[in-house]
Amino acid sequence: MNYCDAHNHLQDDRLDGHLDDLLTTCARAGIARMVVNGTCEADWPQLLALARHAASAEDPAVPARGIQIIPSFGYHPWYLARRTPEWLEHLEHYLTEIPSAVGEIGLDRWKPDLPYAGQEAAFVAQLRLAADRNLPVSIHCLQAWGRLLELLRSHPRPERGFLLHSFGGPAELIPALARLGAYFSFPGYFLHARKERQRETFKAVPSDRLLIETDAPDQSLPPENIRYPLTGRDGKPLNHPANLEAVYAGLAKYLGEDLNTLAAKVENNFQRVFAEGHLLKN
Ligand SMILES: [Zn+2]
Repeated sequence: MNYCDAHNHLQDDRLDGHLDDLLTTCARAGIARMVVNGTCEADWPQLLALARHAASAEDPAVPARGIQIIPSFGYHPWYLARRTPEWLEHLEHYLTEIPSAVGEIGLDRWKPDLPYAGQEAAFVAQLRLAADRNLPVSIHCLQAWGRLLELLRSHPRPERGFLLHSFGGPAELIPALARLGAYFSFPGYFLHARKERQRETFKAVPSDRLLIETDAPDQSLPPENIRYPLTGRDGKPLNHPANLEAVYAGLAKYLGEDLNTLAAKVENNFQRVFAEGHLLKN
């Protein structure tokens, strides 16, 4: 099985020291590709190093061998206060080093005490970069769906499409978003019983626009679905990226689909939006 993780954060500090083990386990668990999302200028260098390490991993002892790591560079709305005056130039520099993907970017009116002012301008600037270079872009949106739709409608978008990660928006918006080029990814977190509305929404996602993600180390699955437990240094549970296969299995069961059929479809979708955008410059 070739599982594709449409969205994770393997460069996250909470995974420091675990990375080689995590990638070894992911390779054994059938994970073929993953999009690793940056969140701010401070983690872009780690992301570049991770992608280079994976790309040069001809040595069978190197754990990333066999897993295609697509690095994605972007400013997450939660960390915009950390922007340097040159942040956009820095972003362009990384996207020139590896013309791979833009993200995680987005709009968030849910997080308490997070200022909304400035989020739209940062979002649009990054969306424009992705559109100019036709790179896939990964979008986070919480409680700002109306504005997101307006901004996507009124600005250039990458021709190859864009990802709405952990899509938790209203089902009624799916056709309009899909017409603009949206792909919708399902996280294991939505397998929790209380997330019935979000699960149900995925029945309305066109089958050629469905993707699956872990968002590791966040968005843990319900305890009964977890196949790979992981604990951070502070003793708090983390989401292991190899739980991706359990997310596929959980969604297949919920949709009443055969796991192999679902996996083949998701791999096709993943390749359509993310392939060929990750070529390393030598
Ligand atoms: Zn994320």
